[in-house]
Amino acid sequence: MPTNRTFTMIKPKAVENGHIGAILDKIGASGFKIVALKLTQLSKIDAEKFYAVHNERPFFNELVAFMTSGPIVAAVLEKENAVEDYRALIGATNPEEAAEGTLRNLFAESMTKNAVHGSDSDENAAIESAFHFSEREMFA
Ligand code: ATP
Ligand code: MG
Repeated sequence: MPTNRTFTMIKPKAVENGHIGAILDKIGASGFKIVALKLTQLSKIDAEKFYAVHNERPFFNELVAFMTSGPIVAAVLEKENAVEDYRALIGATNPEEAAEGTLRNLFAESMTKNAVHGSDSDENAAIESAFHFSEREMFA
């Protein structure tokens, strides 16, 4: 996968609150091209694997319970400097610290229910995209 791609999820609470359209609008308006997209739901094993780096942290069980609590939107986004630029668009992990106009500033409810995920490296973007999408579900 080219390194000008990143992976995102719209998390369960933002889906439940009806923010899919507004979030995808912002993503498009910020210069990202959607190259893969689906509504899906993480199993407990999926979420534990996805957030394995945090499995010793006190918030891990809450995070896994939340991320499996309902459907999510998974998407692969393409843009020059995609990983870094998308992290800037989503804002800080804690929505209280997320800059004005960022996705987490606009749509998050709490540290756990923080609206969206964005990959933190090109390597993880490739791993996370391949986890959700086959080659024929990703478009140039
Ligand atoms: P994400 O990976 O979901 O895009 P992130 O990269 O901004 O978020 P990470 O450090 O990867 O942040 O943490 C993964 C998720 O774990 C966060 O989105 C948040 O919901 C939760 N989390 C992280 N740190 C804390 C914390 N100190 N207390 C509670 N929840 C936390
Ligand atoms: Mg992260």
